[in-house]
Amino acid sequence: MDDPTALVSAKSEPAASSVTQESAVATNLSFSQEQTVHNPEANIFVAAQRGDVELIKQLIESGQAKATDRDEQNITPLHWAAINAQIAACRSLLDQGAEVDALGGDLVATPMQWAARNGYLYIIQLLIAHNADPTIADSQGYNTLHLVTHSSSIMPLLYLLHQPINVDSRDAQGHTSLMWAAYQGDALSVDLLLRHGANPNTKDDAGLTPLHWAVVRANRMCIRRLVEHGADLTVKDAENRTARDMAVELKSLGAWKRAMEEGGMNEYGVKRTKPFSDRNTKIAIFLLPTIFFYLIFTTLAILPWYTGVILAMAEFFGMHHIVTRVLLNKTTYTESVNQTPYFAGIIFGSILWVLFSWFTRLVQHDDGTHSLAHLGFAISAGLCMYNFSRAVMLDPGTCPKPSSDGELKTIIEDLASEGRLNGQTFCIQCMARKPLRSKHCRVCDKCIARSDHHCPWVWNCVGSNNHRQFVLFVTMLVSGIMLFDYLTFEYFSSLELPTPDPTQISPSCMLPINLCQITAYDTFLVAVSAWATLQLSWTIVLLISQYWQIARQMTTLEVSNLGRYGFMGGRGGASVQGQMGHRHGRRMGGGDTEDSSLMGNVDGDVTPSAPGGHGHQHGHSHGCCGICGGGGFLMNLLGFDRFTKGKAVDGLARASKASNPFDMGVWGNCKDFWTAGKELGVEYDKLYDVPFEGFVEAKKRREREEEEEGGGAGHGRKGSMARKGLFMGLVSRMGGSSRGQYEPISQV
Ligand SMILES: [Zn+2]
Ligand SMILES: [Zn+2]
Repeated sequence: MDDPTALVSAKSEPAASSVTQESAVATNLSFSQEQTVHNPEANIFVAAQRGDVELIKQLIESGQAKATDRDEQNITPLHWAAINAQIAACRSLLDQGAEVDALGGDLVATPMQWAARNGYLYIIQLLIAHNADPTIADSQGYNTLHLVTHSSSIMPLLYLLHQPINVDSRDAQGHTSLMWAAYQGDALSVDLLLRHGANPNTKDDAGLTPLHWAVVRANRMCIRRLVEHGADLTVKDAENRTARDMAVELKSLGAWKRAMEEGGMNEYGVKRTKPFSDRNTKIAIFLLPTIFFYLIFTTLAILPWYTGVILAMAEFFGMHHIVTRVLLNKTTYTESVNQTPYFAGIIFGSILWVLFSWFTRLVQHDDGTHSLAHLGFAISAGLCMYNFSRAVMLDPGTCPKPSSDGELKTIIEDLASEGRLNGQTFCIQCMARKPLRSKHCRVCDKCIARSDHHCPWVWNCVGSNNHRQFVLFVTMLVSGIMLFDYLTFEYFSSLELPTPDPTQISPSCMLPINLCQITAYDTFLVAVSAWATLQLSWTIVLLISQYWQIARQMTTLEVSNLGRYGFMGGRGGASVQGQMGHRHGRRMGGGDTEDSSLMGNVDGDVTPSAPGGHGHQHGHSHGCCGICGGGGFLMNLLGFDRFTKGKAVDGLARASKASNPFDMGVWGNCKDFWTAGKELGVEYDKLYDVPFEGFVEAKKRREREEEEEGGGAGHGRKGSMARKGLFMGLVSRMGGSSRGQYEPISQV
């Protein structure tokens, strides 16, 4: 009973055997081609496997075969077409009267179940459209939902969850799909099932809950999701073990503890409480750096440097400790600070003490010789603070979500029937269409239109709606620091300090004698300007890359993933497939049918949708490591990770070859950036397709059409008024009338 290995083998065996059976079916098929074929020229089963629509038609029309024929294994042509993802052949067979729910093969399964094992979304969609029944169970008790869950394909699972099938339906041993997903460690599937109402507290025949199954796989994301969705931690299985007991037995208590910690609990599921309310915690974290910076600068000013520096570092660490371990009550120093205004507080505090030093020292002392530089600094600081607060507070460009379940179902159905329901058109986390160039931000937990990056320094995502404010903020930050440094230099130069007397300088000062002297004169100012100057290093790099990207009409995300996006001149489906890494080859048979365009999509898109889950998980885990690991965390914070992460180098090398449909030349790109898409005539939060003729042509055509409709001088004036208003930042979003074609059919 208590032997953990016995438990693993006992519980994992059915899964292992079912997997082998699955793969046996799949492998059978490739060999059975030779086995079943006696006369390859005239065999409807081979024709179905190869997707040879012409041959199928010929055979049926000449009366040599029927769509309802069965081979010696009692399998219909529709089964063979379905398991080979031959969508055109499936359609042709259905048109010729194939039985959609025919039962066949060793497992007495339907063609849809064969397709579901491999996660072939578009075959499933076609069969459902022909009234296939997803609730039929095969001889192992698996219905289509179980089999799609086994395939770990997230998009087919999403599609099926919007069909009439019970999300908690059980297989022969009483397992639900949620248990299977938890056992397989598919965190995305677990999440998706839970959000479609799967019960986290059902028990299978052995009394195990989905949480027990997640523990068997020791997947902390699955454990966390289940607990967050109300899985009961006290439920015991038939052998009287809770999920935690099982984790102890299976030596996966580490994963269990981490999952619970990330969910804000201790290992027994007791919530860790924070000392203040959420709101007050945020305010405290935002203001804390301002207070601590004063302490640090003062410490440096009053103590000799060798003790001052050490104490200042201790104070800095103390601030970090208070934020992470006390206010947030976390067990690590890096976790979840990104979700708080901590870094924004550091920026705010730094700017505040720079302003304080400027006002109390530089302005007071100036005799009017540097009034221009002072004015420049004042303007920079003012605009910097203003744009900083705007970048923090503006909505970065949240993408709209469907307003009802009906609308969501329509979106899924439409995307699936167009053959492009995949991770790039649909966001599983938001349950919404994903516009082009948008990205789902894990920190903000929403899709951001024309997402650039999530910036902890402004405690917000940088997207189409606040990118301009962000760039202005960084620009003003850089110019402000430079002017401050200049004014500080001039201030010290104008001081009439006595000629340095080596005997009066502290022997411990290791700086050049002049620096020692001014440091001794006003350590506070020297410390503040040194801290400010330190920030120049990364802000300048950030600013240059931002300008370069704006001029090229690319976001940080696109630069670091160049070649990934078909619409950005990448290799589209092929490269999506390439990066996801997946079996692919054996599908194209006689592809050139009337459906070859859809076939192309099936080929490109079924594949990414299948491992979409993995793609996501990988992406996330990288992100996690980046944040958890100290070095990665720092790189991420300073924005350097774009140069080290992913395919940046590879992508930059290809950048010159990529053709970017959004590119309007440097000037046009800058104008489009400034107007958040008006120059291109797009609304980035609702942009789903690249127009056939390209954006520039589409806009010209629209303008021509508008002119023909409205005609006359009045229209021209309206245009110039709009432009003027735009310049003043007064024009609200323009009406969507002319953009109908960019909206999804489903949302019109
Ligand atoms: Zn999203
Ligand atoms: Zn974000």
